[in-house]
Amino acid sequence: MAKKIIITIDGWSSCGKSTLAKQLATALGYVYIDSGAMYRAITLYFIRKNTDWSNPAEVKEALEEIVLHFECNPASGKSEIFLNAENVEYLIRDLVVAEKVSDVATIAAVRDFAVAQQRSMGLQKGIVMDGRDIGTTVFPHAELKIFMTADITIRVERRFKEMYVKNPNVTLAEVKANLESRDYIDSHREVSPLRQAEDAILLDNSNLSIEEQLDFALKLVAKKL
Ligand code: C5P
Repeated sequence: MAKKIIITIDGWSSCGKSTLAKQLATALGYVYIDSGAMYRAITLYFIRKNTDWSNPAEVKEALEEIVLHFECNPASGKSEIFLNAENVEYLIRDLVVAEKVSDVATIAAVRDFAVAQQRSMGLQKGIVMDGRDIGTTVFPHAELKIFMTADITIRVERRFKEMYVKNPNVTLAEVKANLESRDYIDSHREVSPLRQAEDAILLDNSNLSIEEQLDFALKLVAKKL
């Protein structure tokens, strides 16, 4: 049987991590896991339940009520996240969730909850997972680690286009403020801050097409297999 590896893709908000991760998973026949969707789904639950996430007892209680799982949508072929059996893939992309998720993701209990599930998903290998701490904390021994970045103006434009389709009231300034704030919180938090793992390969896709970036990553994979 072909050798299977773990591929981690970390990086700044909206630099195309999930696009590359999905393409790699499809090309290799691997499972794709969007770890950010897990933090977003937990945040959605906290918002709905009015959980005071500065209170550890409330966080603990809420986490005990949360069951997350991913399912492949046969129509799109994409994996989608379920929160307590409800498909929340669309809802978690809302700015209301995006504005709170990085705060929620600083909480150690939340990270322990998510990381334990992420690790169990990698037991069989053959997985591409994207996020902020996948190469540093979740899978520090992953065979291939990619760290992605792109110019902030380009990232803002990309995310704005995505969000505008769903909500034409969204402004470029709101999207920019959200990306900058998440990047700051993600890279300055105490537990598992966003940083490039020492053995991660840097991929700046500011001036790369989607095809060029996939080609770059597939060459890295070929070296590892
Ligand atoms: O990847 P995405 O932008 O959907 O992630 C949403 C947020 O979840 C990030 O801004 C970050 O605060 C948090 N996150 C994290 N660790 C991960 C993935 C996401 O802290 N591995």
